[in-house]
Amino acid sequence: MSDPKQRRLDTKIVEGGRKPEWTTGIVNPPVWRASTMLFDTVADMEASNPPKHGRLQYGRNGTPTQWALSEALTELEPGAAGTRLFPSGSAAVGIALMSVLSPGDEILMVDSAYAPTRIFCDNVLTPMGITVTYYDPLIGRGIEALIGERTKAIFLESPGSLSFEVQDVPGLCEIARARGLVTLIDNTWATPVLFQALAAGVDIAILAATKYIVGHADAMIGTVTANARWWPKVERTSQVFGQHVGPDDAFLATRGLRTLGVRLRHHQESALKVAHWLQEQPQVSRVLHPALPDCPGHEYWARDFKGASGLFAFELKGGDADARDALIDGLTHFGIGYSWGGFESLATPSDADRLRTATRWQADGPRVRLHIGLEDVDDLIEDLARGLARYGDAA
Ligand SMILES: *Cc1c(COP(=O)(O)O)cnc(C)c1O
Repeated sequence: MSDPKQRRLDTKIVEGGRKPEWTTGIVNPPVWRASTMLFDTVADMEASNPPKHGRLQYGRNGTPTQWALSEALTELEPGAAGTRLFPSGSAAVGIALMSVLSPGDEILMVDSAYAPTRIFCDNVLTPMGITVTYYDPLIGRGIEALIGERTKAIFLESPGSLSFEVQDVPGLCEIARARGLVTLIDNTWATPVLFQALAAGVDIAILAATKYIVGHADAMIGTVTANARWWPKVERTSQVFGQHVGPDDAFLATRGLRTLGVRLRHHQESALKVAHWLQEQPQVSRVLHPALPDCPGHEYWARDFKGASGLFAFELKGGDADARDALIDGLTHFGIGYSWGGFESLATPSDADRLRTATRWQADGPRVRLHIGLEDVDDLIEDLARGLARYGDAA
């Protein structure tokens, strides 16, 4: 007989964090709102310090609503010691970096990082005396030549924001570990369902839970999950920076999490159908979808990932940004807006070029990023067909 504690991923998604003392019989952990919590005596109050995960002490240190989400996410990352919650994905990135870096250190930062991550590096880390060196996401073993005396950390994001290069995460982590460096990854695109970062050798995994964990475009949360070596630093830094997520948002994220497995499978299936269709269209020069061979680093996706999510980009032939914008502006079923990972489809420009400093991006024409939602995929394809016809007229 198999061990009932050895649960598979979808079972963990459904059962994670549902401790009887937190749910008191309610299926999904309910909303516990609190700032002050009352103690019987002064001695009891003093004994509650330092605050501990899972023990009611003060609102900033959470209630069962936040703990349930943290525990469910920790369970999804084999090798994790704990998960902290943040008011946004960007807050999670910033505090994770502050947890591992001190003035005088150097960090190697992937050139395809999410733009606000770069902005944090250039506006907070650099003025603090931390050197930020950007590297090519496809650098591979070449990263060894960048590691110097002061290098402390390597930050990865795979696939990269806007450009979708998939990194050799296990390879980079192996080098980092041999040189005594800490590794962090922004794993928002895959979530632990499609890529288990800590098992691949990463020390600290960050999610913009705003995207697929919440999954309904109605709340913002960030998370940082760390292994035993780095967990105490991450926990302490987020406490001293007063990071906290309200119970209503934590509740929405936990509710979203329960359907993450099925949602991702549907996002994957529809996005692949759209991506394959786009490959056949005369106006399209290439499709940057990690599961397709045209995407740089596709071989690492094939080796390391359990599947693909619903976000990818395509590059148009010729034409200019105005023609591309006409394509997007006229779409009926795709919204235009920041973020992604909800149930709805989105289309936005996807020009990574102007942000990069370590690498140059060679493009045939303007690019469009799509988030493929849960609508009927044939409605989406027909909408894009009309958009490409507009582009053909405008280009
Ligand atoms: C959206 C996003 C973030 C930031 O998350 P917010 O909750 O919007 O602050 C970080 N990394 C990636 C890859 C993202 O797409």
